[in-house]
Amino acid sequence: MDHIAALKEAIGRPDAVVTDPDILVSACTDWRGWYGGRALALLRPKDVSEVQRAVAACARLRIPLVPQGGNSSLAGASTPSPDGSNVVLSLQHLNRIRAIDASSWSMNVDAGVPLSAVQQAAAMHDRHFGVDLGARDTARVGGLISTNAGGMSVLRYGSMREQVLGLEVVLPDGSVWNGLRGLRKDNSGVDLKHLFIGAEGTLGVITAATLRLHPPERHSATLLLAVKDLDVISTIVDALLETGQVSALELMPTWAVELACREILRCRPPLETGAEWLIQAKLAGRRPVMEQAEEVAASLIENGSVLDAILADGAKQETLWAIRDEFAPVHKWLGHSARFDLSVPLGRIPELIRKLEAAILPIDRELRHFSFGHLGDGNLHFSVFRRLDANDGLALPEEAIDAAVNQTVWSMGGSISAEHGVGLLHRDQLVGQKPAEELRLQKRIKALLDPQDLFNPGKVFIPGTRDA
Ligand SMILES: Cc1cc2nc3c(=O)[nH]c(=O)nc-3n(C[C@H](O)[C@H](O)[C@H](O)COP(=O)(O)OP(=O)(O)OC[C@H]3O[C@@H](n4cnc5c(N)ncnc54)[C@H](O)[C@@H]3O)c2cc1C
Repeated sequence: MDHIAALKEAIGRPDAVVTDPDILVSACTDWRGWYGGRALALLRPKDVSEVQRAVAACARLRIPLVPQGGNSSLAGASTPSPDGSNVVLSLQHLNRIRAIDASSWSMNVDAGVPLSAVQQAAAMHDRHFGVDLGARDTARVGGLISTNAGGMSVLRYGSMREQVLGLEVVLPDGSVWNGLRGLRKDNSGVDLKHLFIGAEGTLGVITAATLRLHPPERHSATLLLAVKDLDVISTIVDALLETGQVSALELMPTWAVELACREILRCRPPLETGAEWLIQAKLAGRRPVMEQAEEVAASLIENGSVLDAILADGAKQETLWAIRDEFAPVHKWLGHSARFDLSVPLGRIPELIRKLEAAILPIDRELRHFSFGHLGDGNLHFSVFRRLDANDGLALPEEAIDAAVNQTVWSMGGSISAEHGVGLLHRDQLVGQKPAEELRLQKRIKALLDPQDLFNPGKVFIPGTRDA
């Protein structure tokens, strides 16, 4: 029996095994279009037992498999290898909110539920879910957990790891670990869920999660501040954080906000001051926060660190955050760019931007950067492109840019993957960044759980070095 027939028989539902090339192509191409592979088939199980049977069959037949949620990975983690030997195991049809327990401030959800559906379900029970990011309609719970996604609310609620109370996982041998517990305290041994959070599908398939819920943000206000220059960023951040109410804090270059408004949203830019940088912050809480927002904006204008400000509450804020959501599409206007997701200790973002500028300009005077990010987490998204009107047909010197950026970040004690994960994009660079003992320990855990190396092969771990 060939592999396709064997998978159909094992899962017990033939239409769970898709081989139509038109459907396979989108599952095999990543969101940015950087990584394209080929798959033997796309598996679409509907429940845990179908996942279990699919995984057990893959183990028996030695078929490599790539777990996939919304395929919105920005690290090339969610697509199959080019050799056509992998199956893609989509979790999108496991999409039930199993239960919401408002009194224990938690919910049990299938791995294929989109982030926006989790947020809406929490809100319907007067609760708040603590993760938000631009891909909220695409990214699924299993993918968010497997990449330990961050986004715009990490400052207040932590990343995806902090939202996970329990997990249900199908292990590479096809057995199920049911760790769906909503306990806040449980010191009864090694906390296994942390192995799978951020493992990028290399250790098992997450089929469901118990997620932590928070009190609702009943009142919120958004400040958009035109920043005098990079030197005053710490003053602004400190003043905002002292309010104790900040739930999002973003740094944005003015030109990108203008481009997003002009080219994508077809609206007027919200502030026109000549300032090079903008800071957008959300204050949120149980009581009205507008007065506090006005006070902090006034004091920052008075001490000269902010040139102008906009304050918005209610639905008006959505317009401001919609502009920030368009930063991923802004890249399309830049042509090819080298992209980085960097983190440094809190407070050192201005220094990082200056050092990165100094590191890339000697490579090519026509290089420009698109720097934005989660200021309150020390996380900078840094994309390097050639000046839009350079028009000289020269290619981006990617190797030299990579080396310069990585070196700069490491010299500051930072990380080259703050929140997007490792995937294929950063796999090889980790060898220079992480202590050898740390990498060795990770490979030993991988070898223990997935001895046949079938789970998301080639991602995170360099092939052939598993047991080094
Ligand atoms: C417009 C846009 C904005 C973004 N903004 C942010 C941001 O602000 N912050 C941030 O952190 N990230 C951001 N991301 C990237 C983010 O990592 C992904 O959106 C998300 O975390 C991945 O979820 P997914 O369901 O799409 O997973 P996929 O892309 O399908 O998979 C990602 C990884 O998880 C694994 N995986 C998926 N599901 C499972 C499962 N059930 N069990 C085991 N492994 C699984 C895959 O094998 C792969 O390794 C953004 C992406 C886009 C496109």
